[in-house]
Amino acid sequence: MVNRGQVYLHNDSWIDFIPVVMAQQPVLKNRRTLLERAEKFISDVYFTDCNLRGRLYGDSCLLESLTSFSCSKRISFQEASKQNFTPHNLGDTFGPTWWTCWFKVTLKIPESWRGKEVHLLWECDGEAMVWRDEQPVQGLTKEGEKTSYILSDFLKDEDPHSLTLYVEVACNGLFGAGQGSMIAAPDPNRRFSLQKAELVVFNRDVQELLTDFEMLIDIVKAVGKEDQRGYQALFTVNEMVNLCNPFDHSSFSKARGLAHKFFNQRNGESQHTTHAMGHCHIDTAWLWPYEETIRKCGRSWVTAIRLMEKNPDFIFTCSQAQQFQWVKSWYPGLYTQIQHYVKKGQFIPVGGSWVEMDGNLPSGESMVRQFLEGQDFFNREFEIICKEFWLPDTFGYSAQLPQIMLGCGISNFLTQKLSWNLVNTFPHNTFLWEGLDGSEVLTHFPPGESYEMKGKIEDLVKTVKNNKDKGRTNHSAVLFGFGDGGGGPTQLMLDRLRRVQDTDGLPKVQASSPEKLFSQLRAESALLCTWTGELFLELHQGTYTTQAQIKKGNRQCEILLHDIEIASSLALCQDKTFQYPVEKLRELWRLLLLNQFHDVIPGSCIEMVVEDALNYYEEIRSGGAVLLQNALSVLGSKGKSAGVLNSLPWERHEVIQTQDGAGLPGLALVRVPSLGLSPVKDTQPMTPVLVTVQADGTVLMENGIIQTVINKNGTLASLYLIGANREAISDCSHGNQFIMFDDIPLYWDAWDTMDYHLQTRKPVLEVVQPVCVSSSSGLRGVVSFTLRISDKSTITQEIVMDAACQYLKFNTEVNWFESHKFLKVEFPVRVRSASATYEIQFGHLQRPTHRNTSWDWAKYEVWGHKWADLSEHNFGVALLNDCKYGYSVYKNTMTLSLLRAPKAPDANADMGTHQFTYALMPHAGSFQDAAVIQSAYNLNFPLRLVRCNPDIIPWSAFSISSPAVILETVKQAEDRKGALVVRLYESHGSSVSATVCTTLPVKEAWLCDLLERRDGGQPVRIASEGISLNFKPFQIVTLLLIM
Ligand SMILES: [Zn+2]
Repeated sequence: MVNRGQVYLHNDSWIDFIPVVMAQQPVLKNRRTLLERAEKFISDVYFTDCNLRGRLYGDSCLLESLTSFSCSKRISFQEASKQNFTPHNLGDTFGPTWWTCWFKVTLKIPESWRGKEVHLLWECDGEAMVWRDEQPVQGLTKEGEKTSYILSDFLKDEDPHSLTLYVEVACNGLFGAGQGSMIAAPDPNRRFSLQKAELVVFNRDVQELLTDFEMLIDIVKAVGKEDQRGYQALFTVNEMVNLCNPFDHSSFSKARGLAHKFFNQRNGESQHTTHAMGHCHIDTAWLWPYEETIRKCGRSWVTAIRLMEKNPDFIFTCSQAQQFQWVKSWYPGLYTQIQHYVKKGQFIPVGGSWVEMDGNLPSGESMVRQFLEGQDFFNREFEIICKEFWLPDTFGYSAQLPQIMLGCGISNFLTQKLSWNLVNTFPHNTFLWEGLDGSEVLTHFPPGESYEMKGKIEDLVKTVKNNKDKGRTNHSAVLFGFGDGGGGPTQLMLDRLRRVQDTDGLPKVQASSPEKLFSQLRAESALLCTWTGELFLELHQGTYTTQAQIKKGNRQCEILLHDIEIASSLALCQDKTFQYPVEKLRELWRLLLLNQFHDVIPGSCIEMVVEDALNYYEEIRSGGAVLLQNALSVLGSKGKSAGVLNSLPWERHEVIQTQDGAGLPGLALVRVPSLGLSPVKDTQPMTPVLVTVQADGTVLMENGIIQTVINKNGTLASLYLIGANREAISDCSHGNQFIMFDDIPLYWDAWDTMDYHLQTRKPVLEVVQPVCVSSSSGLRGVVSFTLRISDKSTITQEIVMDAACQYLKFNTEVNWFESHKFLKVEFPVRVRSASATYEIQFGHLQRPTHRNTSWDWAKYEVWGHKWADLSEHNFGVALLNDCKYGYSVYKNTMTLSLLRAPKAPDANADMGTHQFTYALMPHAGSFQDAAVIQSAYNLNFPLRLVRCNPDIIPWSAFSISSPAVILETVKQAEDRKGALVVRLYESHGSSVSATVCTTLPVKEAWLCDLLERRDGGQPVRIASEGISLNFKPFQIVTLLLIM
């Protein structure tokens, strides 16, 4: 029997051919043997003596010489190349972990290899960078399937045959150096070795044919037995084995012709289109320190550039301005090449943020700054404003993100992490995400559920099959490439995808960009569904609590930078010669933003990263203290008597700690105007605090607003709101009850606290030092006590009641040396409500207090910022904190998560002494009307002592007519010296009109977006009473004030 067919030739013409299968036996109906036969034909394990894989490399040749030197530091090429290199044999070990071994390689390519493709084969542990002519030229890593540096595609006589190269090998893997498991703490003593370093002839035609085989075999497997396309692939690949003689390269074209015939059978018009984008997700720090990330970026991005040179259609998406900034300063030569390919549209900066930050914990202003710094960088360096937020790998996404994105020029969002949900399957892949204020962004989760695909058939098939919006949208993203230093895509991945651009039965593949993908999705968005509110990740809920010092550093530094900006802005208005510290503030902000990376602030990093992060917070604190002092001394006119600065936009009437002339601490009750300053005048409270030890040993504290009874063990028997005549603590139970839980997750130790930990609840009952009164001044009452958690850990607490204060403060110190335990504090309250409210960025949201559905109970541990509230009509209780983020409210019990003790990837996570404060605030009416929001701000933002003139008159720079509107930020405008940017938001969830009143000499006011770009052609009217603004619920408004 003779079949007539066609073969595809390289010159794009088709010719008829007659297959050579003529006289053979018929093909039996044995799918398994046919398939395995083909697999063995390209196996790198079996039959390599006679199969095609065994022919991939031709002749090889040893290096002329190989020498090395090792170094504990990450040094520059210039420094390294001057060192004394000593002979190195293959198999010699080097290290230990985190060191760098530099190799000097001299090589001579045999003349007889003319016309061949010549590679330097380099197989070693660790991550390598090849340097040539003092420039980085190629990243090499076995784990990223990159073991070849191409010396020549086609060796010519005039090409250099003798070369000296350097190879810089970092002594860590893609995923650090975990001992036993990837996320285990690093093994500091790991040794590394170089197994192969030689020149080889690379047979490109063998590689091409191997790729054809691999793709067809994968089609057989991926489409399964139900689909006739799988059988067509099976018989094609079987015939290819018949036609191909691995030892006769002239036999390859017939086999390739068959493959191409298959690949070129086209789809109909309705087929799904995948948008293939090269990517390399590089965690900015995680299982390795920040400094190693810089080299991971260098190695990965130079590899991407090499691919772009050979593949003009290859597109690589790259996020995180911080990483660009690092590469710019560490690898200027590489950066110039990147700039070139950015212009060509192949190297695409994406995301618009400084780092891919955590999506839950950073404050609203921090999130704005992530985009402000990121977009500003991309704009200055590449004239690009990103239109998509790119955050594939973060542990949940705040409901306020859509509004922040839109305000920063971003209308599209790409992520995929919700595919990790442990309980519920998220119902959409492409949808409109509606945020807290109603802002909508077009959102896409790549249905392949990965940002590290390999361009394989299964990736494409999975993308189509998993798509939960079939029929609504016909486009999806395929992000391919090894992340975390694996160097991103390989030539093989590109070759795979190119073969099946339009192959009947498989989705179409097009090299694409985020812009193309999202414009397609937007064009066909008519049928898309909408998801309203937060994107809650039902996993990794321990990350709200792990590494408490990082969380505390974040909160305190956010507040410090807030205060510096306000004090400096006011100083600028008071004294035109004042130098607003633009550069220093940017430097400190960038450190804060860096630590908000999605494996740092969540606490899922190794100990080295924790040390770096805490050092950065120290830099912010010490650098910030100087800036704040500079500004305060201008505001206080360098006087000698005591004054107080209030950085919040409402009048505060509070007890503060003072120092007298001799430096002795004291207390004063002060009244300070909104965003203003007043002298400290010791006023006596209307009602002093009374502290009474009762006959049964309990302590009664009252200040005219609240009254509490504290048991000998430090728990609250009662907390009574006097004006409302309401008890806050539930009948027959105690507030302020510490609880220990066993906290052993399934795998992700630092990340996860599982649902079942709730079954191991054990109250902390052992009293070391019962409650005693430590101070009762009339302005402040304090009682203290100590509890034993275990033979290793203790809690000491001061319960503080201030005059004129509606909340009770709990200043807590814990000596914490536990293992796989979780410490929380509980308040069973006399409130019944089906939902509790939690503060988030620029607003708040509700979550259920019941476990009706799986969506409800999956939120057994949730995050919030400065407060959570449980209210019924006309009464409620708020739980405030100064540096915690983990909460839960089940039925009527409000719980704050305090400390965890995971052992991986940081074996010493959270061990040591911790200080933190939380507060309990009963209130009448709604939490909005009771100023819970303001109280939580007050707890967090200290009134700051200022040295000022004794005759100073209290003044206020800004005040707002509506308590619903919070003035969050005052700063100098980015691009305009002397102009101020003022950011406000509606915090009650209401539509309101508010007037911003200012005593500053404002000439013009403009509405602008979060990137400080003016909206519209007209300034806002400034009336005598101030600037009138209308707010929708949770709306963020930014004003540019020209002085
Ligand atoms: Zn990540």
